[in-house]
Amino acid sequence: MDEQWDKVVDILVAGSGAAGLTAAITAADARLDVLVVESTAKWGGTTAISGGGLWMPVNPLMVRAGVADSREEALRYMQEAIGEAGPASSGERRRAFLDSGPEVVRLLGRLGVRWRRSPDYPDYYPDRPGGKVGRGIEVARRSTPSGWDPGIRPREPPTACPRR
Ligand SMILES: Cc1cc2nc3c(=O)[nH]c(=O)nc-3n(C[C@H](O)[C@H](O)[C@H](O)COP(=O)(O)OP(=O)(O)OC[C@H]3O[C@@H](n4cnc5c(N)ncnc54)[C@H](O)[C@@H]3O)c2cc1C
Repeated sequence: MDEQWDKVVDILVAGSGAAGLTAAITAADARLDVLVVESTAKWGGTTAISGGGLWMPVNPLMVRAGVADSREEALRYMQEAIGEAGPASSGERRRAFLDSGPEVVRLLGRLGVRWRRSPDYPDYYPDRPGGKVGRGIEVARRSTPSGWDPGIRPREPPTACPRR
């Protein structure tokens, strides 16, 4: 059947939070034609109101700062802190997170995200084997393209609760 479409793209992304926009800008960086669709009136999702912090072992910022860390220590820590949690946190997923996470940090940095370290922020169980201080990073500021800000989901609720 000959379908008619309003727009034809290489990649269609549903949702404009961190997951969707990371996929979208990665695809755009690879010179693919991308369309992001958002089901609400504002873009940004939960991400727009979040703290923007990442727990990322062996991240490029800590490596640059000379903080010792390794994939093996991080895997050990995850095993100690999470234990056996089924498919949601399988060994394969943990290894994929540790192998690709630092690359995502580098890629987003190259594309304009300003990261900063949280050098004194400890792992939740820093005394467990593999635990560390300083694996946290966060987005340094909202670095949105000009003209986009008015559409971002605001942190404040749209209507204030009446005071009694
Ligand atoms: C106050 C607060 C602080 C937080 N701080 C942190 C933190 O520091 N570190 C951390 O790791 N996590 C934090 N989180 C959790 C984190 O924000 C979420 O896990 C993360 O933002 C989820 O990203 P996402 O892209 O998957 O979803 P979202 O950011 O929620 O984006 C999903 C988007 O998809 C849209 N959508 C849904 N269905 C459709 C559809 N069918 N078609 C089109 N669009 C659709 C939604 O409207 C939304 O805009 C925090 C959360 C809160 C509330």
